[in-house]
Amino acid sequence: MNYSKSKSFTMLLSAGIIANSICLPAYGDIAVPGSGIGQSGVAKELRMVYNPNDGMYYLRNTVDNIETFFGYGGSNKFNPDIPESSLNPRPGFVGTFSHTSNFLDSYCDSDETDPNILYQKAAVDAHSNVTKIVKFFKNAPFYRNNQEGVGEGEGIKVLISTSQPRRVPILKPMGWGSKNYIGVHFYHDENVRILSAGLDVLAHEYTHGLLEYEGLVYSGKETVALHEGIADVFGILARYYIANEYSFNQDGSDDALCGLIGKDIFYNGYLRDAFNPECTTYDIYKTKDDNSGLYGCGLISRAAGLMANGGPNIPAIGYGKIARIFYDAINDGYLTENTSLQEFANYALLSSSLLYGDGSQEYLSTKAAFTAVGLLRMSPKDFNLYANNNSITLTWNESPDSTVGIFRKASGTKVKPLLIQRVIGTNRCTLDAFDGISDYYVAFLNDASVLNPAYSDAKRYEKITNSTPTNLRMISKNGLNVQFEWSGTGDIFAIYRKISGTSNEFEMLGRTTSRQINVNTINGKCDFSVAAVSFDGTRLSAFSPVVTVEEYLSAPTYFTATSETSSDITFTWNSVSDANRYALYRTSDGTYDPPVKVVETKNTTCKVPKVPGRYHYQVAVVDLEGNRLSSFSSVVSD
Ligand SMILES: [Zn+2]
Repeated sequence: MNYSKSKSFTMLLSAGIIANSICLPAYGDIAVPGSGIGQSGVAKELRMVYNPNDGMYYLRNTVDNIETFFGYGGSNKFNPDIPESSLNPRPGFVGTFSHTSNFLDSYCDSDETDPNILYQKAAVDAHSNVTKIVKFFKNAPFYRNNQEGVGEGEGIKVLISTSQPRRVPILKPMGWGSKNYIGVHFYHDENVRILSAGLDVLAHEYTHGLLEYEGLVYSGKETVALHEGIADVFGILARYYIANEYSFNQDGSDDALCGLIGKDIFYNGYLRDAFNPECTTYDIYKTKDDNSGLYGCGLISRAAGLMANGGPNIPAIGYGKIARIFYDAINDGYLTENTSLQEFANYALLSSSLLYGDGSQEYLSTKAAFTAVGLLRMSPKDFNLYANNNSITLTWNESPDSTVGIFRKASGTKVKPLLIQRVIGTNRCTLDAFDGISDYYVAFLNDASVLNPAYSDAKRYEKITNSTPTNLRMISKNGLNVQFEWSGTGDIFAIYRKISGTSNEFEMLGRTTSRQINVNTINGKCDFSVAAVSFDGTRLSAFSPVVTVEEYLSAPTYFTATSETSSDITFTWNSVSDANRYALYRTSDGTYDPPVKVVETKNTTCKVPKVPGRYHYQVAVVDLEGNRLSSFSSVVSD
């Protein structure tokens, strides 16, 4: 720390709240609920601790391991190659924000130009928003443990920074994120709040941490653009599914997914339009310099926008499905340190196939959207597979001059297709089918490298070698943990799960050489099945008959009709901890039909039109795709 910095802090330290914050919370802190007023003037719930030694309340969330600091930033961009301690200047966490009560409303009526007031409001926004973001990723459909990446080990430090990182003046809102550290620069002016007011921009920074953990390095033109693009997509989705303050619709309906980044920090405006970026195709992108990644990132977010809102020959799909497809493409396996934009497009497509199947709307939407932005290149036309006694012939319709690769992967597994043969001078290829159920692909190999081919749609061939396992049964269950047993012939078995009542594909959960396995289910209703598999996970038998397991969160409480007119009826209920979304259900009086979903909402109230007849209403927690996660609430009848 240089002299001028010390001096400026001395000045701030004399001003009140910051002085209180230099005592770090000590052992013996007590977790307490609190609240505070953010920059928008809205009161927000906060998880805090009380320190009995100094009688102060600190912005430390011990449940999700998040602590919000005042200090100065060490870097305007994280770089995992540079340890935090060697940054010059290194981040300075001067102190955890604190206050004399657990309601942070300091100086609300006093001088608005006092920086301490502003810092406290910015800290309330940061602490509240980052807590919501961690919960968002912790729950369905991501189930991301806070320890997996962001917040690993020591937790997440959120820093409201007052310095100019690397002594470069900052003239606009700026944040930065890595595994354990989200930095928010205190920049603000007459048009814009301090960046922590933006749930989407904080989720964007948080996503940088997830990507860093998954192995995607923030370095190199395309990788930086990919980082920024994926961060924007999750910023948009997190804001959509979490925010209530700015998108509350009285009738319980949701806003359309909006691609404007940072609209909550500007009084009138936004940072960028991620669904309508300046850069619209990969061909244009390749002609430009893009040091910040904020040009090329538009290709990724534009593809997501096309999937959400539809486009020419691009079917619109549910936003929760976009979240799952993008999350599966970044989670556990595909990303390397220098994954390119085109490679990511292939991974998104493989994920959509794995989750929803090759012919699904979700697959078609993903493929068309990434093709529209030029990230999925052409694959050989009219690809077909013919089988004769486990000898398979693959044909396609292209000039025989092109070099074509034949790829194969075990159906239903999360691996990249493997090149098994390279052919030139022909448009057909005959080979012995692999044992089990495999997906075959063709792709042009006109690049010197085969790292990033654009795969054709898969053709599946089933060479079943084992009989179907029988007698699958659940032998014990403890909460989400379930143990299964079955009979069957084979050396290795795999257990699979899918959400009941959906057309989703089965997801492999684990493998064993015995005929018994312990696995976790998820909240809601799931179907389990087993099959014999090979050493690489190729399924060798048909799926066994399913066993259905149900495990529900507690139902929302205090479900009531708060007002009723001749045309509509308004319900409210208490929120369920960690729930992102609710659905209202209706049953016709005198029937035994299962409840029918009327509407979904992220709020704890909704207004629906009345329908003729007498109905019973209930509410439940649902996931981002509308699958029920909790028991039904008590009944309200109209
Ligand atoms: Zn970024």
